[in-house]
Amino acid sequence: MSKSDAIIVGAGPSGLYLARELSKVMNVTIFEEDRMLGIPPHCTGLVNLSSLKVLGISPPIVNTYRYVRITDLSGNSITFDFRERTIAMLDRPGLEHYLADELGSATLALGERVTELDNGIAKTKLRQEAFDIAIIAEGANMALTRNLIPWKPTHVYGIQTDTKSFAVSELMPRSDDEIVVIFDRKLSEHYFAWIVPRNSHEFRIGIADDANVWVKFTELLKIINAEQSKPFGGKIIIGGSPSHVVAGNVAIIGDAGGFVKPMTGGGIIMGMLSAKLLAESISNAVKEGLSITDALSLYDALFRKYIRGMVKALGSASYILHMMINRSLGNIMQLMSKVNVVVEDYDNHIDAIMKAASRRPWQFIKALLAVVNELSLIEPGRINRLIKDTLE
Ligand SMILES: Cc1cc2nc3c(=O)[nH]c(=O)nc-3n(C[C@H](O)[C@H](O)[C@H](O)COP(=O)(O)OP(=O)(O)OC[C@H]3O[C@@H](n4cnc5c(N)ncnc54)[C@H](O)[C@@H]3O)c2cc1C
Repeated sequence: MSKSDAIIVGAGPSGLYLARELSKVMNVTIFEEDRMLGIPPHCTGLVNLSSLKVLGISPPIVNTYRYVRITDLSGNSITFDFRERTIAMLDRPGLEHYLADELGSATLALGERVTELDNGIAKTKLRQEAFDIAIIAEGANMALTRNLIPWKPTHVYGIQTDTKSFAVSELMPRSDDEIVVIFDRKLSEHYFAWIVPRNSHEFRIGIADDANVWVKFTELLKIINAEQSKPFGGKIIIGGSPSHVVAGNVAIIGDAGGFVKPMTGGGIIMGMLSAKLLAESISNAVKEGLSITDALSLYDALFRKYIRGMVKALGSASYILHMMINRSLGNIMQLMSKVNVVVEDYDNHIDAIMKAASRRPWQFIKALLAVVNELSLIEPGRINRLIKDTLE
């Protein structure tokens, strides 16, 4: 039986980013059940460009955006102006390939599903691999996580397609740098729909909700006269948090550990940040002469001390907010109609909302303030200081 210092289950962005970092200090094998990286795709791929800089990566980008227009089906809207094209649509299989090219000494085992992690041994159909530590980065399906650290996230389902539309409609982006987000309970009861330009007349169009999403997706395409071609999507985690992210010598990162922005379910950056937090916990603990299992305990302690409470609170607030918006959405959209707000940073939604609040200080905007400060859930610049504080 062969042995790795660390095995990672799942080669999505979280697992690949972790493999890239850990391969600098230890012998790593990363298992991916699919034969091709990033296939089948499921994600829209929207991130803040500056978050990529923080993570030190520059993956391929499909398009960039300056404006986010939130609208309802009646045409009431509010536009957020980020002043520059600061939001990016990542090429999702492209992100995985970019990270895989940077794996260094790590071994990538494609087409191998890990079925069991037991007593320091990872089992696939093809082999058994012994390990000192295992990290589960299996995404939202959580088959292994469920047995190890049972927890129930709040989730919705998202379906989207890449398609052409020549429709002339208020709902369509006015330029190739504008994302349209449709909040309207006639379309999505508890979440929202999106129209994101890929290039001229080509769009990624999708919708998420907690029930009947296929019917709502078809309805959306009909409304904007777009054809359906190869739909894709999946489960979007939007809240909840496990009590621990470590059990024995196994840790969880990414979607499987609930590392997402509760407002939008965006987990690409949060997943890689959880990988960064774990990798830096390991390298700091090892520098302090601690064992590798102590390093995992450090990651767990950091999660419990600085992240869990916030993720849980934001998840619950976000859930309530979505319910609240649905109840009074028509009024809110009418009140806010045609407001244009200049903002700095897509991931730092709080700034956007602060500015909106200063223009129209309604109750619902105040509620938003509590919900939206997601990027600060794991502040990359503070990771080392938090580790030192926790070690002391
Ligand atoms: C419709 C939709 C739209 C989204 N849009 C955005 C967005 O615009 N921006 C954003 O930030 N996020 C978005 N997300 C969320 C984002 O896709 C996830 O947060 C992100 O992919 C999480 O990364 P991950 O590496 O944790 O998991 P994943 O990307 O899901 O990767 C997990 C990998 O593990 C593999 N795997 C699972 N089990 C095993 C096993 N037992 N053995 C081996 N391999 C296994 C899977 O095949 C997969 O490749 C969206 C999600 C959906 C569904």
